[in-house]
Amino acid sequence: MKKQEITTKNSINHTKSIKNLDNLKKNDINYKKSLGQNFIYDTNLLNAIVSDADIHDDDVVLEIGAGAGTLTSILASRASRVISFEIDRSLSEILNDVKNRHANVEFYFQDFMECDIDELPFERAKVVANIPYYITTPIVFKLIDKIEKFDMIMLLVQKEVAERFASSNGSKEYGITSVILQSLFDVKITRVVRKEAFTPMPKIDSAVVKMVPHKKYNITNFDEFRAFIHQSFSMRRKTLVNNLKSKYDKEIILNSLKSLNLNENIRPEQISVKEYVLLFDMLKN
Ligand code: SAM
Repeated sequence: MKKQEITTKNSINHTKSIKNLDNLKKNDINYKKSLGQNFIYDTNLLNAIVSDADIHDDDVVLEIGAGAGTLTSILASRASRVISFEIDRSLSEILNDVKNRHANVEFYFQDFMECDIDELPFERAKVVANIPYYITTPIVFKLIDKIEKFDMIMLLVQKEVAERFASSNGSKEYGITSVILQSLFDVKITRVVRKEAFTPMPKIDSAVVKMVPHKKYNITNFDEFRAFIHQSFSMRRKTLVNNLKSKYDKEIILNSLKSLNLNENIRPEQISVKEYVLLFDMLKN
């Protein structure tokens, strides 16, 4: 893995960093829409986001998409170490300046999707990132494949995506991603971030979603569980029984629903995460 070697000055000067942020905003950064470059320069907002993350001075933080390093700087002033990925090498001069002010930051100028998380220099970390929205789902699934490495994952994503992550059964946003994420994490939206807070301004608002791993369920084969959830939601307008009957015995599905006190005409979006886990256990045996 290639890592940018940058000389370091061991000094953290917050006043200076705020001045630099002001200058940065005036600077004509060539924002690349194709890389999801919508940056945040508002120090108060960034501080509030990092407070939601509850970062301690012994935490290692993984950031995906450093941008101009505004969030990185604040993370670095609270964490023991920040490992930050940025695919756009044209930002390296700005980020070198961040590195000069914060010796505990390491930038990896490469595609996060190509890194091997097991090779990163930490045993466990917290993820805090304003991620590029065009690869939200791949990033989330890459992280959850290594869930044992993360104490917490906090991402700034499009508001409607955050709502899908956090919604409960019965709501129209509830679906495959809600069940899969909530079977592993307590998922909570900590704040909405208006589109005006970004430079350049995107079309829609965003939200910060905080995911803390829980051990509520013992799902023995997670890949099979994921496939089961995809099958359950294959046709949203159909009943669960109709969606599952090509893969499982209809009688067994009906008996399992009955033992969970669920109606045989129940639709996929009406079933809770816990009920899905129980149903999966019954059907796979
Ligand atoms: N953290 C900064 C902030 O809050 O202002 C920037 C956030 S911006 C939404 C996302 C950043 O991710 C961009 O700087 C973009 O260049 C970078 N990026 C896009 N695709 C990436 C990838 N595959 N790996 C690493 N960084 C990526």
